[in-house]
Amino acid sequence: MHYVGKELNEECAVFGIWGHENAAKLTYYGLHSMQHRGQEGAGIAVSDGKHIYDHKGLGLVNDVFDHDKLEELSIGHAAIGHVRYSTQGGNSYANVQPLVFRSQKDSLSIAHNGNLVNAHKLKGELEERGSIFQTTSDTEVIAHLIKRDYAENFIESVKHALSVIKGAYALAMLTEHQLIAALDPNGLRPLSLGKLGDAWVVASETCAFDLIGATFVRDINPGEILVIDNEGLHSDFFTNRTEPAICSMEYIYFSRPDSNIQGINIHAARKNLGRMLAQEAPVEADVVTGVPDSSISAAIGYAETTGIPYELGMIKNRYVGRTFIQPSQELREQGVKMKLSAVRAIVEGKRVVMVDDSIVRGTTSRRIVGMLRDAGATEVHVRISSPPITHPCFYGIDTSTTSELIASTHSVEDIRKLIGADSLVYLSVEGMQKAIGRNPAMKNCGQCMACFTGKYPTEIYPDTVLPHEKELLV
Ligand code: SF4
Repeated sequence: MHYVGKELNEECAVFGIWGHENAAKLTYYGLHSMQHRGQEGAGIAVSDGKHIYDHKGLGLVNDVFDHDKLEELSIGHAAIGHVRYSTQGGNSYANVQPLVFRSQKDSLSIAHNGNLVNAHKLKGELEERGSIFQTTSDTEVIAHLIKRDYAENFIESVKHALSVIKGAYALAMLTEHQLIAALDPNGLRPLSLGKLGDAWVVASETCAFDLIGATFVRDINPGEILVIDNEGLHSDFFTNRTEPAICSMEYIYFSRPDSNIQGINIHAARKNLGRMLAQEAPVEADVVTGVPDSSISAAIGYAETTGIPYELGMIKNRYVGRTFIQPSQELREQGVKMKLSAVRAIVEGKRVVMVDDSIVRGTTSRRIVGMLRDAGATEVHVRISSPPITHPCFYGIDTSTTSELIASTHSVEDIRKLIGADSLVYLSVEGMQKAIGRNPAMKNCGQCMACFTGKYPTEIYPDTVLPHEKELLV
């Protein structure tokens, strides 16, 4: 959720629908509900059974699509859509998804959430065999793999491509005749299946179903491929070597509070994180406040457990222009001032507990602590509802390199001094696991915690590229 000047950025969201006359418009609304996952580009591809039509552009969903554009796309019964957070190095139009690949025979459009760890290696191999890439996106690698192997059986070719790529991928793909959804063997990113009347819907977050009035059916399983066509829905697995490891940060920070991931509501998980934090790190104070929006649930949980009143000590300015929604460090820092304000009437003369969900570089926390002090807080105690982020993410989250992660190079006490807090405590890894409520010892309940522990659920290749480095490889 980049819009509050946060330092962690999600890469994308995908949406797909099959069998509805308003496919494009419903995709638009679905993307709108998942705008928090990416604000730099949006696109929709539609099938009318004969052709694929698409429109995409840089900016928010509302900037890219107006009434006329949606009317133009309202010709098909199936659609996929995508919102994208572009990484440093340029928000290139070519990388905005869905990517559409056309051939004389047919077309394929792909929307991808996640990051591959072997894309660079595969791209090199494909280029040696003559493939020419037009984007710096991992997604194009998937398309080339599918097309290279595409003989008679398209789905077998897709399954083969999925077994070759490694890393995080929640995919929605559309041909003239099929909607295909697939999830990587670790299920690193969320992907759910829903139903709207007779139409099938897939989305990165269940909040998209609520917005369009669809019913949640189930989560898509790691290693699963769903093929939806006029015959109905067919489920298969492209691998039996699955090891579920959903991203912990989806619960802590990325997903919307009204979404559910694998049976766990995000707001409830965050509240539990706050409760656990209160048990692990209580402090004497007058008010508890959360950094809006993603830390409010955790702050409420912290307040409930400690008995210290929760107050709206900070508010977000919701109407900051898009100029400030830019993935650069300088603008991120300016953005904090523009986007957050301390409420003087609440914090003046008070000992404040400031609950936040994470510290990445520390610059945002320092500014927020300063802002609370400027507004008259006598003490600022910072409580973080996740463990220290010490390792980069290779699965689609722009956490930067290890050297930029403050917790990888500084002790908690050093960080406390740097951000100017009276005290600073992070949630423990064990506390986080317990609070989220997934039991990693149980089948299908694993979760990725690599940015806290350095234990990555997939192999990491020597030439694995971090999300923010990708566009520098043009
Ligand atoms: S490394 Fe961290 S941010 Fe990346 S997928 Fe794992 S838990 Fe999520």
